Amino acid sequence: MKPIIEVIDVSFAYDIGPPALEHVTLSVEDGEFLGLVGPNGGGKSTLLKLVLGLLRPGGGEVRVAGRTPQESRKLIGYVPQYARFARDFPISVEETVLLGRLGATRLLGGYRAADREVAHRVMKETEVLDLVGRPLGTLSGGQLQRVLVARALACEPRILILDEPTANIDQRAETEIFDLFQVLNRRMTIVVVSHDIGFISRYVTRVACLNRTLLCHRPAPIGAEMIERLYGIPVQRIPHGEAGRTGAKP
Ligand code: ADP
Ligand code: MG
Repeated sequence: MKPIIEVIDVSFAYDIGPPALEHVTLSVEDGEFLGLVGPNGGGKSTLLKLVLGLLRPGGGEVRVAGRTPQESRKLIGYVPQYARFARDFPISVEETVLLGRLGATRLLGGYRAADREVAHRVMKETEVLDLVGRPLGTLSGGQLQRVLVARALACEPRILILDEPTANIDQRAETEIFDLFQVLNRRMTIVVVSHDIGFISRYVTRVACLNRTLLCHRPAPIGAEMIERLYGIPVQRIPHGEAGRTGAKP
């Protein structure tokens, strides 16, 4: 079977600054739970935006389910990085989740009963149904992140892409939300960006390390040697005692 996401020799540069990505090749199999890690500025968010079709590669090619990212846009649910801006909107939890239906439903005439049914189903699944009428601005970081996951699920995606979904929430909320991702992974492919390699290693099936070029992709968890190469610093504590086992080669 073909991979659901194919990134083939992709390079990308913004109008200003050095190239953000150079000759990156990565494929994601249907049903995988991939962790994408790497230093700040390593190009993780850029790579996700290329897969979403929000940016177009300067060189190389991106395919999603065998088609262009634009053609496959409806297959992907996306939780962007720094979604905290959403807090300032005077909008309820339910209205936020319904926004996720926009790509999937007719554009005129408002939401249909079926849209509300899907919204309620995903709010139940993400355990935010009790918050349904609450303004976004009143939620905790963990609650807000769950609502944004619900919004991403509302388009009934085959692929869920999350860019640092737990950057601003405490460890307990982080664990709960990754437990949710694990359940969701039974029916969809998941790609999650994180800088906490030790933590995500418990959940993901594979880790890809991006530092402008892709350094490695290997079964989780990855070892200290790779973390050192990636971040350029010696690692004191090795997550989960996996030192040496993965014998890192690019
Ligand atoms: P990461 O998500 O891994 O932190 P990004 O993909 O956000 O990395 O950024 C990769 C590189 O591209 C960085 O050097 C960053 O400064 C640069 N960059 C990101 N967005 C823009 C933009 N809109 N315009 C110019 N440069 C950008
Ligand atoms: Mg980023």
